[in-house]
Amino acid sequence: MIHNTVPLGDIFRRLIRTTGPISLAQFMGEANARYYGTRDPLGSAGDFVTAPEISQMFGELIGLWCADVWIRAGSKRPVHYVELGPGRGTLARDALRAGQRYGFEPQVHLVETSDALKAVQQAAIPQATWHHDLSSVPHTGPILLVANEFLDALPLRQLVRTPSGWRERMVGLENERFAFVAGAQAMDSAVPPEHRDAAEGTVLETSPASAAIVSEVAGRLVRQGGAALFVDYGHAEARTGSTFQAVAAHRKVDPFAAPGSADLTAHVDFATLARVAVSREARHLGTVTQGEWLRALGIAARADALMERAPRHAAAIAAARDRLIGTSEMGSLFKVMGLAAPGWPDGAGFEPGFEAA
Ligand code: SAH
Repeated sequence: MIHNTVPLGDIFRRLIRTTGPISLAQFMGEANARYYGTRDPLGSAGDFVTAPEISQMFGELIGLWCADVWIRAGSKRPVHYVELGPGRGTLARDALRAGQRYGFEPQVHLVETSDALKAVQQAAIPQATWHHDLSSVPHTGPILLVANEFLDALPLRQLVRTPSGWRERMVGLENERFAFVAGAQAMDSAVPPEHRDAAEGTVLETSPASAAIVSEVAGRLVRQGGAALFVDYGHAEARTGSTFQAVAAHRKVDPFAAPGSADLTAHVDFATLARVAVSREARHLGTVTQGEWLRALGIAARADALMERAPRHAAAIAAARDRLIGTSEMGSLFKVMGLAAPGWPDGAGFEPGFEAA
């Protein structure tokens, strides 16, 4: 693997000095490509911990969800398990093990751009096929697709209301430090009518990259059959304000301090993404909190069974369960959005009454 040793911050500074401010999307896209391409950031020794790394219960319940939907749709073969941004491969490994007990033995396709993480995934799931993007994933046979904490790392675009109207929020330099500056072009026509007259300083976020991926997934579901789960930190209804942030060593850090050395994320706008999926004629099963979804899937019973089998680990299992579903932990900040092909079953956990507030 080739490690580019020139700090990305220096590359950006030179670029901005010669050609002017760059978009936040370019800053975030290149910073995260460098960040993920050069390390395994997951786990307690890394920068952040994700749900599948907290407990096997998370991946197992996702695997059972996939198996259940697939069986109720008629157990069609071949079938593909597709995961976007699989990290260490932990979720896929737990999901496939749980699904196997019900005859769900799909071909496994992992979409990953980081060579560093691909190497970790190869050790966890040797039978998988790797892809740089969705385009090379087989175009026939239903797809059960999973993406956990994937959309939040995709490049973000921000618009800001200035005294002279709406502008794109760009990254420029102030005394050699990165700082937000307003772009030169009027962006008013890109702002929905209900926000046009917002107060000065109001920030609107969009993620064209997330919308493009959800649109592509929805199109695949409609043509090939299947269902998809997108799990992420985000909100079920549209909002204003910046959610752009950076995390390193389990703490929030300045996203401009050292691009490429911290995980840059933004909240996922699930309302917009559901509309994108429906516009492609996929079904939106619902967007619910992670806590509600895992409870509906039976996390309590699964935790009890694990505790019975390993009484010495009972306290750790209970703590992991509470971390995944607790309202002050991941339970309400994280949302689960379900999509399905027309004619495919609803999938557990999205029944009416489980809609996120
Ligand atoms: N889903 C895992 C990892 C989340 S971290 C978990 O829950 O533990 C984000 C993952 O997305 C990493 O594997 C990262 O390398 C990958 N990733 C980031 N941007 C990507 C892109 N544009 N295409 C494919 N994978 C990407």
